[in-house]
This record gives sequence, structure tokens and C-alpha cells, in this order.
Amino acid sequence: MDLIHEGKVKRVLQDPDSSERVIIEFTDLVTAGDGAKKEEFAGKGAVACDMSEYLFGYLEGKGIDTHYVKKLSANQILCQKVTIIPIEVVCRNIAAGSFCRRYGTEKGTRLSEPLIEFFLKDDAYHDPLITVDAIIRLELAKREDLDFMKSIALSVNYYLGELLKQRNLVLVDFKLEFGRTEKGTIVLADELSPDTFRIWDSSATSMDKDVFREDKGDLVATYLKVFEEMKKAKPQDVEPRTESIQVIVETKSGIKNPPGEVTKKALERLGFADVKDVRMGKVFTIALKKPITSEILNQLAIMNVKLLSNPISENHKVRIE
Ligand code: C5P
Repeated sequence: MDLIHEGKVKRVLQDPDSSERVIIEFTDLVTAGDGAKKEEFAGKGAVACDMSEYLFGYLEGKGIDTHYVKKLSANQILCQKVTIIPIEVVCRNIAAGSFCRRYGTEKGTRLSEPLIEFFLKDDAYHDPLITVDAIIRLELAKREDLDFMKSIALSVNYYLGELLKQRNLVLVDFKLEFGRTEKGTIVLADELSPDTFRIWDSSATSMDKDVFREDKGDLVATYLKVFEEMKKAKPQDVEPRTESIQVIVETKSGIKNPPGEVTKKALERLGFADVKDVRMGKVFTIALKKPITSEILNQLAIMNVKLLSNPISENHKVRIE
């Protein structure tokens, strides 16, 4: 099998049976601190593989598109071939790790709402935090792609957090990676394991890679324990998360907008002399029964043209809430 990519703890191999599929192989290696700390633990690859299989399946069941196809062996999964978007999407519920180092926040401080951060996936520059505007200027992803990835990260946070909560475990933070398929859709990629999550038990004891980062115990035994707990939870008891999309429809420039003109005159009468132009549009807020997928966004583009806007005289923008 041809090696496509050799990561720090995983290998990506070409599937000999299909050019559209790859095999992800989990090794027993664990790294931390940008690869500065590295060790091998027998059985770690297998548990990360099992957990990824379980969680990709769980999230697919909740309507989230992933690259996962099926498990092939103890440490290999078959996946759709994707082009990885070079942005790591981190979601945090509780301050820990680099968040505390960056802002001096006390570890364990609960954030008022989940926080999404973007990091540039580039080992040579130590995966720096990156702003949305820099991602767009560097043409690494479009604003709508980032909105989409953020919405999926929040869905994963909800679905995984609720599953763990059933077993008195706390989802502190996690990192996701996304890939673009040949058809151009964006799907959840990489792996889902305690290598990429922080999970605490009810007394804030680490049940994840921090055990290795901070030399706090038996890594494989900890991962196995989390996985055992996860499997005892009931996915069917996790309620669907409602999501909403806003479609903003505006009259194209150069097209007359009588309601805007009336509003402009009214503003002038009230003394707002500096108003140059007012254009009035419409906003549709659409609540969905399941997480937003690329397929739903495609359907929305059709809905826009057919129903929500007049493509000759109006522009439309989609905002994921
Ligand atoms: O180190 P930091 O606090 O930014 O990590 C946030 C979360 O993202 C942690 O769960 C960590 O395990 C994960 N992460 C990762 N791979 C990275 C960076 C962070 O899995 N390259």
C-alpha cells in the first residue's frame, strides 16, 4: 500500500481497491509539546482506532457528515479521501492547556459559552492561533467554510458533551480537522480520541492525553476506561440539537428600493441629515431538525433561487447562527 502521508501518530495509506478511499493507520506513538515529548504505548493505537470508529458512527447517526467508512483491522479505518483544510478547529468549554498559558486564566474556569478557536495547521510555525481574517486573506478557507466548520464543532461539542455527561464525565475541550471531498463538500476528518479531547471525571481528574503530557498515570488504561464509560452511555437519549440558518435577502445595487427610499426620507425628517442611502431587505430564519451539512447548504442555494429571493433583482447571503 502506498503511503500518502506520515503524521506524528498516524499514517495515511492509499486504499488499493479504490482511488477515492484511504486507510488511516493508528500507531502506538503519543506525542506532546509539538513532538518534543514522544513515547510508544502498546495498545494505544487500537483504543484510539476503536474510539474513532465508535464516535464517527455516533456523530453520523446524529446527522454529521464524516470521512469515516468502516473499520478494517485493530488499528486501521477506511475513510473517504479528502483534502485536509489546514486549520485546526478547537472548541473549549473549560479553560485548560494553551488557553490558560495565553490568557493567564485559571485552569478549570468554565467559559460562559463554548469558544471556537482556529489554529494554523503548520508544525514549522508551531500551529499558531489564527484569526478569521488571516485565514481568508491567506486563502486557506472561505468565510462560509469557517462558519460551517464552527457550526459542526458546536454540534460535536453538544453531542459528545451530552454523551459523556450521562457517565459523569466532562468534555473540557477538543480539536477537530475537516477535509474537502472530491465533490467539494466539507466533512469531519482525522480522528476522535482522548489524543484530541480533554475529558475530566467529576473530580477534574484528566482522562486524556494530559495523563501523558503531565506524567499523571497509565495512558492506555485511562483511554480504555473512558471508552468503557462512553459505551455505557445511551446515544438514543441525546436529544437532537436544533440549528438555525439565516438567509438575508437584499436588493441589488442599481435596482430601485422604494421601502428604503421612504425610510431615508423619514430619517431626514427626523434630522438624520448624513444618511446617504437606505435599502430595506428581508431576513428568513430557518430552524433545522439536524446539524447543518454541505447537502443542506446546497439545498438552501436552490431554495434561495426558487423561493426566497429573486435572483434578477436581489442578492442573498446565508449566515449560520
Ligand atoms: O493545547 P490546547 O489547549 O490548545 O489544546 C486544545 C485541545 O485541542 C486539547 O484537547 C488538545 O488535546 C487538542 N489539540 C490537538 N492537537 C493539536 C492541538 C490541540 O488534538 N495540535
